[in-house]
Amino acid sequence: MPVTEKMICITCPMGCTLEVTHEGETLLNVEGNTCPRGEKYVKEELTDPRRMVATTVKVKGGLHPLVPVYTQAPVPKPRIFELLAKIRQAEIEAPVEINQVVLEDPLGEGVNVIASRDLPEV
Ligand code: SF4
Repeated sequence: MPVTEKMICITCPMGCTLEVTHEGETLLNVEGNTCPRGEKYVKEELTDPRRMVATTVKVKGGLHPLVPVYTQAPVPKPRIFELLAKIRQAEIEAPVEINQVVLEDPLGEGVNVIASRDLPEV
C-alpha cells in the first residue's frame, strides 16, 4: 500500500522538505525537491540509507586523551551503533597525524575511520 510522508533532504544546506510517496522501497513520487539530487537522496534513503559518522578515539601518550575522527565516506545507517562500539574499543598511540587511518575498514564496507587533526605525543 502506498505511503506518503515528509522527509528533509540533507544533501545540501538548503534542507528542502520533500513529500515522498513510496511503496516499501519503491519510490512512486517526490515533490518539493529544488534539484535532482533530492530524488537521488530519497531513493538512497528508501533502499540503503547512509550517514557520515564523526566521533573520537582514545589516544595513549598524547597531548590530549582523545582525537576527533570521522568516516571517509557514509556508512549504512543500521550499522552505526556497531561502528561506534568498535571505535570505543580502539586505542591508538600518539603521535597522530591528520588524515591518518585510525581504524581500517572496521565494518568491512570499504570505509576507513581517519583522524581529523594532528595530536602530538608528550
Ligand atoms: S533537493 Fe537539492 S537543493 Fe534541496 S536540499 Fe536536496 S540537494 Fe539541496
